[in-house]
Amino acid sequence: MMAARKPLPDLADRLPQVRGRLRGEVALAPLTWFRVGGPAEILFRPADIEDLAAFLATCPADIPVMPLGVASNLLIRDGGLKGVIVRLGGEFARVRFDGDTVIAGAGALDLTVAEEACAAGLAGLEFLSGIPGTIGGAVKMNAGAYGREIVDIIESAVLVTRAGKVVTVPGDKLGLSYRHSELPEGAIVVEVTLRGRPDEPEQVAQRMQDIQARRAETQPIRARTGGSTFAKPVDANPAGRQGLGADRPRRLPGPDHGRRPGVRAALQLPDQYRRRHGERAGKPWVRKCAAASKRTPVSSCAGKSCALERSHERPL
Ligand SMILES: Cc1cc2nc3c(=O)[nH]c(=O)nc-3n(C[C@H](O)[C@H](O)[C@H](O)COP(=O)(O)OP(=O)(O)OC[C@H]3O[C@@H](n4cnc5c(N)ncnc54)[C@H](O)[C@@H]3O)c2cc1C
Repeated sequence: MMAARKPLPDLADRLPQVRGRLRGEVALAPLTWFRVGGPAEILFRPADIEDLAAFLATCPADIPVMPLGVASNLLIRDGGLKGVIVRLGGEFARVRFDGDTVIAGAGALDLTVAEEACAAGLAGLEFLSGIPGTIGGAVKMNAGAYGREIVDIIESAVLVTRAGKVVTVPGDKLGLSYRHSELPEGAIVVEVTLRGRPDEPEQVAQRMQDIQARRAETQPIRARTGGSTFAKPVDANPAGRQGLGADRPRRLPGPDHGRRPGVRAALQLPDQYRRRHGERAGKPWVRKCAAASKRTPVSSCAGKSCALERSHERPL
């Protein structure tokens, strides 16, 4: 049994006053896609953009601050996360419209944004309906599916920098590439403007249904899998991949809650598979580590308090 981790002695005392909610030792598992992982030392739910900006402006620079969507691209280790985890809900989950543009709070779910755009008769955002994250996470990861990704539809994003400045950055200045962005270090996306185009809601809804149907055909949508887990094998020669075929587990199965509560089992799967199949398995996408205050490679992350993040290096 794991001992409860104590917060840094004076962390709570060093944090500025906020209008939102600041709580210590908060279980993160219920907030994550896999429903596993340890607690946040501090969880901050800002009331609004001004509250977040004021907090970041006065939060001492040595305190790690990390935004969390719904952790559909993160596995949080059982030791939990040090520092302040920022969760954007309430005010940040609103979606509104201005002509053909959709202005979504970063805490809004991708599916909700796709559905609201559909109801408003706007096309082009259908691909979001198949991605189980938030809009903030989608910008950070340049999320995409079926040939379209955030970079194709983003006009601009409002960010709050680690120093607490609120800035609006045009989409083409966010460094968006395959499942990757170049947001300023420590910046939190709070609002995103996306471009749609007018269409009949029935047509848009039909395309969203087609996406759901394609997903259902190609992956176990009722199980909590980790989505695509392996990038394409380095060896692009089909002969080099012979024998893998359908056996290649591109999707990371979720941990078995009944027998092994915890993230360890899920983390071991890509390695087990690679031990069996070597390079032919392809590189696992789960490879980064957000440790206490800086990102370090998984291999050098000996501590228990870190999150593992998929880095999508090569398109599937
Ligand atoms: C079953 C399954 C299917 C998937 N299918 C796809 C797919 O088809 N296409 C695809 O692209 N991805 C897919 N993914 C991966 C994942 O859903 C996306 O990467 C998603 O965009 C992550 O969003 P999130 O809100 O869950 O972010 P999280 O996993 O919570 O965080 C991911 C990263 O984004 C950062 N972040 C989160 N919110 C913010 C914010 N507001 N500002 C700045 N940084 C932020 C976090 O700090 C972290 O570094 C899939 C995952 C699963 C489990």
